[in-house]
Amino acid sequence: MPFKNSEVNMQVDNRVTGKTRLIGVIGNPIAHSISPQLHNTICSHLNLDLVYVPFRVERNDLEQAIKGFKALNFIGFNITIPYKKDVMKYIDENTKEALLMGAVNTVKNIDGRLYGYNTDAEGFSRSFKEGSGISFREREIALLGAGGTARAIAVKLALEGARKINILNRTISKAEEITEIVNNNVKPVAYAHLLESVTAREAFARSSVIINTTPAGMHPDIDSCPVGNDFEFSPEQIVYDVIYNPVKTRFLHRAEEKGCKTVNGLGMLFYQGIYAFEIWTGIRLDDETLKESYKSFLTIMA
Ligand code: NAP
Repeated sequence: MPFKNSEVNMQVDNRVTGKTRLIGVIGNPIAHSISPQLHNTICSHLNLDLVYVPFRVERNDLEQAIKGFKALNFIGFNITIPYKKDVMKYIDENTKEALLMGAVNTVKNIDGRLYGYNTDAEGFSRSFKEGSGISFREREIALLGAGGTARAIAVKLALEGARKINILNRTISKAEEITEIVNNNVKPVAYAHLLESVTAREAFARSSVIINTTPAGMHPDIDSCPVGNDFEFSPEQIVYDVIYNPVKTRFLHRAEEKGCKTVNGLGMLFYQGIYAFEIWTGIRLDDETLKESYKSFLTIMA
């Protein structure tokens, strides 16, 4: 060897070895994703020989990317915007819930067979219950928006026993599509309303839980609100916003001013990741680890 000096200055990096297993996340864009930091922090904390890596994938390459995960024997992967729906046709078996929700955000690879799950709705449900202290059972609920997130949440609310789900949207046909899915496949509790209508305002006023699933109010559009001042909150209502940036949207500010209990979307983001982690590893985090993980998550988000 040409090098005689035995002094070693370079640190050996043992984080990734020949035995390390991989988990991925695909989306486009993907650089903003906090999931790699969250999952790698939890894996390091638990001494798991797993690494979570991000991939920006173009739409035309989606099928190839999924086949790649199989070929490279990944444990599983997440799918984020804009592929949560498109990915489903490449998955061998999607859960019944994910099929109704029309979206898969978590995939597990078992011996080359891919299983698709939706952990967004489960994450939403847990964060709502923790933040509010109540469940959806027998409640009348107003859901603002009728996009992908609204569909997953509407299905979840019906599965968890909501008495009536009012879906309020600018484009009534999209709200009607979701009501049909819920009413025909879970139970007949969903109603569609045009956002700016008298029936929408009445449903909003009657509901004990109000959930915003629109991006109105999200950074940088922080002055926007999904509803005008003619939609009035009352103090006993619990108001949830799936937005987490800013942590308090104008919508939540308005609700708080009227004395409502409010919950933002940070917990939903955190728990969708925790449920995905449980699916891949089979490990259920104990309360202490969950608390530490949430603290790390808030640091990553800061
Ligand atoms: P999407 O499929 O594009 O749907 C957006 C819905 O919002 C549509 O129904 C749209 O109405 C409505 N909308 C948009 N702008 C509006 C405005 N200014 N006023 C009133 N309604 C408006 O979006 P998505 O994928 O469901 O995502 C929605 C939000 O959820 C995003 O902010 C996303 O970041 C957030 N999200 C959060 C989490 C979390 O973990 N916390 C997870 C998933 C998503 P039209 O149908 O009339 O166009």
